[in-house]
Amino acid sequence: MSETSKQNVSVVGLARENVQQLTPYQSARRLGGNGDVWLNANEYALAPHFELTAQTFNRYPECQPKDVVRRYAAYAGVQPEQVLVCRGADESIELLIRAFCEPGKDAILYCPPTYGMYSVSAETFGVEGRTVMAKEDWQLDLPAIEQALDGVKLVYVCSPNNPTGNLINPEDIRSLLETTRGKAVVAVDEAYIEFCPQATVAGWLKDYPHLAILRTLSKAFALAGLRCGFTLANSELIDVLMKVIAPYPLSTPVADIAAQALSEQGLALMRKRVAEVSETREWLRQQLEQCDCVEQVFTSESNYLLARFTASSSVFKTLWDQGIILRDQNKQPGLSGCLRITIGTRQECQRDIDALRPLPGATYTVRETSSASKEPM
Ligand code: PMP
Repeated sequence: MSETSKQNVSVVGLARENVQQLTPYQSARRLGGNGDVWLNANEYALAPHFELTAQTFNRYPECQPKDVVRRYAAYAGVQPEQVLVCRGADESIELLIRAFCEPGKDAILYCPPTYGMYSVSAETFGVEGRTVMAKEDWQLDLPAIEQALDGVKLVYVCSPNNPTGNLINPEDIRSLLETTRGKAVVAVDEAYIEFCPQATVAGWLKDYPHLAILRTLSKAFALAGLRCGFTLANSELIDVLMKVIAPYPLSTPVADIAAQALSEQGLALMRKRVAEVSETREWLRQQLEQCDCVEQVFTSESNYLLARFTASSSVFKTLWDQGIILRDQNKQPGLSGCLRITIGTRQECQRDIDALRPLPGATYTVRETSSASKEPM
């Protein structure tokens, strides 16, 4: 062994055991690719224009920038003390684990197929990630969840769910909140809620001290590069999270642009974007249904569509080679043969369809089998 590799081995060996074992989250950016049509990260396809107004870069920023908090509270229909702003919804996921779960003792629970960061964050902190598979219709298996709650401090429910696109039945979320009262926090991940705003559970905060709602500017607000997200909860829960958040989670430019995105004008633009994405999604859904290589397109309330293909790996590769990058969900439990397609511009979706149309259907191919390994989302 060379001197250098000996040194590398020793420093890796110093890392916490669970970090040594950890498979990091395979974000769309980490997976790379050489595409010119990026339909793999549920981003908005076009960049909104902003100009910085802040200049006070000599000073540390506010921990919780007042304008951003006030505007988000007004937009979400909650009180400012019920809002925590942070570095994306991914940081909200992490803060909850850090604040509520004792490593090596407590567990989080989530229901695959769902967003991959719940398990990665839990693993990072040495907290057990317990799973209860969603039912065949991708709704919560409430009796099985109830059976599995022993030691669980935090339950993540993603609605609309990534990558399936469906909403979780509100009455099931209520049942879960009743079952967990006094025992565990329920975090409802509403990253895509702007695409179905009527489905938010933000109005339920008055009834449930253990409800936390995760939000983001990365999707409908078209600001994935800004890294800005929110946790909505009663002030008692927010105060607990404030104990573990970094002293300056948001840089001054982030707070500046987030406040602009949440102005009247910013909100109007966001709603326009949502209408356009929803219209393109319906167009894409109809087009996909006419492709021979598509077996099924699932109903979506968000800015992506999940579809089952007759030969998803070769479809994925064929489009990849043409510069069209989709998200492979084939390895997720219950999603064999499935690819997730972000709604891009109408032209991008047309490129997608033009590439899919010539591909053969089931008679020519054998479907690959699914395994329950941890895969990128
Ligand atoms: N939750 C879900 C369901 C998501 O899909 C994502 C982003 N892919 C996030 C949270 C994280 O969002 P953010 O960019 O705000 O960290």
